[in-house]
Amino acid sequence: YSAEMNEKSMMRLGLENRLRMALQNNEFYLEYQPKQSLMDGSIVGVEALLRWQDKELGRVAPDDFIPLAEELGLIGEIGAWVMTSAARQAREWALQGLPPMQVSVNVSAQQFKRRELVQDVRWALSCAELSAELLDLEITETCVIEDLDKVIESIHQLRGLGVSISMDDFGTGYSSFALLQKLPIHTLKIDRSFISNVHCNADDAEIVRAIINLAHNLDKAVIAEGVETEDQLEFLREHGCDQVQGYLFSRP
Ligand code: C2E
Ligand code: MG
Ligand code: MG
Repeated sequence: YSAEMNEKSMMRLGLENRLRMALQNNEFYLEYQPKQSLMDGSIVGVEALLRWQDKELGRVAPDDFIPLAEELGLIGEIGAWVMTSAARQAREWALQGLPPMQVSVNVSAQQFKRRELVQDVRWALSCAELSAELLDLEITETCVIEDLDKVIESIHQLRGLGVSISMDDFGTGYSSFALLQKLPIHTLKIDRSFISNVHCNADDAEIVRAIINLAHNLDKAVIAEGVETEDQLEFLREHGCDQVQGYLFSRP
């Protein structure tokens, strides 16, 4: 026991209580970050990123509150809100006459485990009157390590609805080649950690090149996240990456 421990647990308790109320209090909102095609420079989609602005704590980073929301069992409800809000925004853009842009929503492993995910997606699409091709779900490798059969079944159901699936943070988790072959996903999203030194670290460059080739050989699209510099962009363009996302082009 120490005073510091006490302070930490009080802080966490405070955060927990506030997070439980955040949805009701309308403290969540979404920011969108564009995904740019390297074929023609057009914006082909946006990723919806969840933000929490607490009255007392101010802005809390997703990496701080999303794991907590998962732990508290709140991510299902929050995730459903994200899905509906993002779908509504996409529909709104379409009504404004903007060219069709797919909106990507991050889905956590917890949401995958709940039976309601497919239902939530169906609900979001019908609420927003959004056509399913305009919705993409970003899943991570941790979504698929447990209960693989159930996950594959869910992904097939989602594909049946017409939404597309991307594998986020690719290269950092536990994907096997067998898994990639089994999973009907559309896009591999190369993790930021490989991109940051791609122009100056030979190992990272080799890994990125391998992922791009792997994706294309499996008939999948490939996108790089966290692109911050012209050098990185140049490398990715030269090696046939399909899309980029990052601060170089636009912050969320
Ligand atoms: P992610 O899905 O991999 O999202 C990419 C993160 O990288 C975002 O951080 C984004 O703001 C940041 N980013 C984008 N471009 C750059 C860049 O050029 N350089 C750098 N250094 N960073 C860049 P953010 O918004 O803090 O989100 C962190 C993570 O929180 C996300 O990682 C995702 O795993 C999770 N997350 C965000 N929104 C949601 C959500 O609605 N549901 C769930 N389950 N998770 C979410
Ligand atoms: Mg993502
Ligand atoms: Mg990512």
